[in-house]
Amino acid sequence: MKKLTYWLMGLVMVSQACSSKKKADLLVRNAVVYTADSAFTTAQAFAIADGKFVAVGPAETILNNYTADSVADLGGQPVYPGFYDPHAHFLNLGQTLDQADLVGAESYDEVLARLKAYAQKHADALWLTGRGWDQNDWPDKRFPTKAKLDAAFPNLPVALMRVDGHALLVNSKALRLAHITAGSSIEGGEVILESGQPTGVLVDNAMSLVKRVIPQPDEKDKERMLLAAQKHCLALGLTTVSDAGLNQKDIELIEKLQKEGRLKIRDYAMISLGEPNLNYYLKRGPYQTDRLTVRAFKLYADGALGSRGACLRQPYADRPETGGFLLLNPAELKRVLTLLANSSFQANTHCIGDSANHLILDLYGGLLKGPNNRRWRIEHAQVVSPDDFWKFNRYSVIPSVQPTHATSDMYWAADRLGPVRVKGAYAFKDLLKQNGYIAFGSDFPVEAANPLYGFHAAVARVDAKGFPAGGFQMENAVDRPTALKAMTRWAAYANYEDHLRGSIEPGKQADFVVLQQDIMKVPAPQLRTAKVTQTWIAGERVF
Ligand SMILES: [Zn+2]
Repeated sequence: MKKLTYWLMGLVMVSQACSSKKKADLLVRNAVVYTADSAFTTAQAFAIADGKFVAVGPAETILNNYTADSVADLGGQPVYPGFYDPHAHFLNLGQTLDQADLVGAESYDEVLARLKAYAQKHADALWLTGRGWDQNDWPDKRFPTKAKLDAAFPNLPVALMRVDGHALLVNSKALRLAHITAGSSIEGGEVILESGQPTGVLVDNAMSLVKRVIPQPDEKDKERMLLAAQKHCLALGLTTVSDAGLNQKDIELIEKLQKEGRLKIRDYAMISLGEPNLNYYLKRGPYQTDRLTVRAFKLYADGALGSRGACLRQPYADRPETGGFLLLNPAELKRVLTLLANSSFQANTHCIGDSANHLILDLYGGLLKGPNNRRWRIEHAQVVSPDDFWKFNRYSVIPSVQPTHATSDMYWAADRLGPVRVKGAYAFKDLLKQNGYIAFGSDFPVEAANPLYGFHAAVARVDAKGFPAGGFQMENAVDRPTALKAMTRWAAYANYEDHLRGSIEPGKQADFVVLQQDIMKVPAPQLRTAKVTQTWIAGERVF
């Protein structure tokens, strides 16, 4: 009897202990958790309920206070907040995955070989489209011409986007369908001529002459592309991506797929500039769903440095007859920015050249006046004059930069800019110093979507092969905690989502990623090959 009483008492005590524990949906233990909170704390365990972190801390604290049906023992693997890509083109990535992949081709002949293989697989295609060529990687670094394309594809129209998305190489068939001749001209773009004839290269706005005659993907095509892009991104640990420039229809398609539960990844949709979008969204105002944020307009001030479309204050060092150009005139930029200043939308303006950065910082300054919480961004902030950096601080402007652009462009950036101006290019640390924050993205599919390539480029400033020895302009390298914050909590801040996620803290949405190697510790050359083993969004395993 006594024995039974003791036994019963023990049972009561155990059940009391159990009932004092709070119920969670999932406990994660035996991990190295980089929370990316404001003190950059590490923890060993956390509890998740209803898609949010409810407790984060030492193993005993979590396991003594919480119980859950699922417990994940991570065997000491490192955990980070879900990776952000605050400047990317998610739908375009899907489109790219559908096209001939020309990234990394080391010659024009390799481009042709890849195209032929693609054409064989897509025998019913009406157009041959591809993306990712870069003549800077070829033995002949001059812009290509259509001659070789014409020989290989005399009857099928071909349009191939340069790696930076700012130049299109097309064949004669495509030129004819687009009615492009030596006399064609378009503001903010260039039909490149040689001996008075189009070479087949179209720069910036001139690309639209061809784009408008290429059959557009329909909604079914786009669904397929978005789901393919999602699969690609989740495997890389990305939990929030951006679409730097979308129309209403595409935003609504993403929203629909998210509501149906088919698109799990979160999207920060920047609205493309244009009167229909302005009219519609200025009236509607910003909005946010569980997985979608719509509160920014994407503007383009200029083009890219590689194709000399970036707008510089002084001429290009390697082509003194040009200084690039603006894609919109200053009066139009001011008109649109004034509309946005009078709304609650964020303005995210693409600025590559120092002239574009100078102009937009001053336009922002005129409207924002001083420190503020509007979180207006400059996308790329790629070449900034020494006398303009302070304006990021004065007007609370967020630099939204892409570390892999530095390591992709470093081979020729000094040719374009000369030895002095290049010091203000890809100056991430100088930009960081202004406000104490910076956002790192990739601009995929211009660059690879893997956020660890950006992490590596930001801290080591070398390419995949470790070139150049010692790193490119290392005075602007950042340390690893900074790089991690720039692709998590600060990226969330740049998206107005820092109250929702971007760190592993109680109350935040449970987006996190598990890696095989610890990117805070492994030697730099191993950063690019660190492997994502799990990706979680809102407490649900999605990879
Ligand atoms: Zn972009």
